[in-house]
Amino acid sequence: SISDGPGVSPARTAALRAEAEALYLGTRPKTRAAAEAAAHLLDGVPMHWMVDWSTPVPLVIAEASGARLIDVDGHGYDDFCLGDTASLFGHGPAPVARALARQASAGLATMLPSPDAGRVGDLLSERFGLPYWQIATTATDANRFALRAARAATGRPRILVFDGAYHGAVDETFVEIGPDGRAANRPALMGEPRDLSKLTRVVPFNDLDALEAALADRTVACVITEPVMTNCAMVLPQPGFHEGLREITRRHGSLLLIDETHTLSTGPGGYSRAYGLEPDMFVAGKAVAGGIPAAVWGMTEDVAERFRTARINRPDGHSGMGTTLSGSPLQLAALRANLEEVATEPAYAQMNRLADRMEAGLAQVLADARLPWHVARCGARVEVVRAPFPLTDGRQAKGAHYPALEATTHLALLVRGVLISPFHDMMLASPATTEAQVERLIEATAQVVGRLCD
Ligand code: PMP
Repeated sequence: SISDGPGVSPARTAALRAEAEALYLGTRPKTRAAAEAAAHLLDGVPMHWMVDWSTPVPLVIAEASGARLIDVDGHGYDDFCLGDTASLFGHGPAPVARALARQASAGLATMLPSPDAGRVGDLLSERFGLPYWQIATTATDANRFALRAARAATGRPRILVFDGAYHGAVDETFVEIGPDGRAANRPALMGEPRDLSKLTRVVPFNDLDALEAALADRTVACVITEPVMTNCAMVLPQPGFHEGLREITRRHGSLLLIDETHTLSTGPGGYSRAYGLEPDMFVAGKAVAGGIPAAVWGMTEDVAERFRTARINRPDGHSGMGTTLSGSPLQLAALRANLEEVATEPAYAQMNRLADRMEAGLAQVLADARLPWHVARCGARVEVVRAPFPLTDGRQAKGAHYPALEATTHLALLVRGVLISPFHDMMLASPATTEAQVERLIEATAQVVGRLCD
């Protein structure tokens, strides 16, 4: 059955879904053949999330450049998903492509620093404001290593996450507040026999009283959070939340890890720089090196010093941090090119201008249709939120999530040549995005909303 949310007709949703599916399959013979030819991939895809898109068979992309995709059947798409942020600066930005080509003939993986290493450290420090950095290969890994370093530095066992947050496939973060109000492993988590709530505390975002209570026994090494929750629709911090979060974590001796993997959409120094946050540790991945697998984690002088001290007395052997391909010459070349030449102030100014128009245009579409929804925004990241008011925490975000309606909307947009992110209603503006593309997004959304409403 289809759950539709307020203002939307179930019969219309079902009809639109059927029509979009027929159109998708009927005009994509090569896409269908590609699905049949992928018999030796589990579920026919190289990574199982790819079956979670709205399409009846996976969309197979032959070419991605700028903010455009072309599928194997030759259909073009205006791409507002941008690899779920990995390609926030457009697909294959030219300076990154040139740096990768150069580095390909000078060594890809040596497990030694290249001459770019020192410069990359300087760029990260200037941009994000923390003095010491390490390179990882995914944001997942960067978060795992930063959490481990936080425990080592503080000598404390626990971490704290906010309900509804996502920080990558980081085992210990998959804890939520269950229906009975108690912390528990997330129900969808597979292959996890441990009760993760033993070492992970969880409180609602924007709830400083709950945070205070959860940190008071001084066993929490680290609070990990996005500055804006972007993985359960979009939950913005309420006025005073970040000031309170910083004050309470400091007072109880818990480190504050800000994960800016998605909120790099805010500006060149992320949300932290734009809003004056003072994290002890900082993580960014996905787009930070222009779309190749690379992530960064940084720390204050104080954390670095405590971490070094903790390392002095340990025996030789595995630290549980680092991977063979991390800090590679390839990553360093891409990081340098992306930070120096792509993720620049003018690029962000352009992204924000486009996102202004997306926000206004989409809000107008919702208002014209009298839908009780709104548009939330974090720099170049724009989200249609299926609730009349700003969300305050993960529980509210769950209540504003209508999977069947969202999938129908996504597929109906896709057959109109517009791609938005698969798991909720997120759209990104890249420096390569054109004004014409933004107008097409708004127009396609108006068409789809028109079909859904009575
Ligand atoms: N942190 C945040 C805030 C994220 O949204 C994600 C992925 N959606 C990650 C970390 C993990 O990134 P990756 O899957 O590239 O490891």
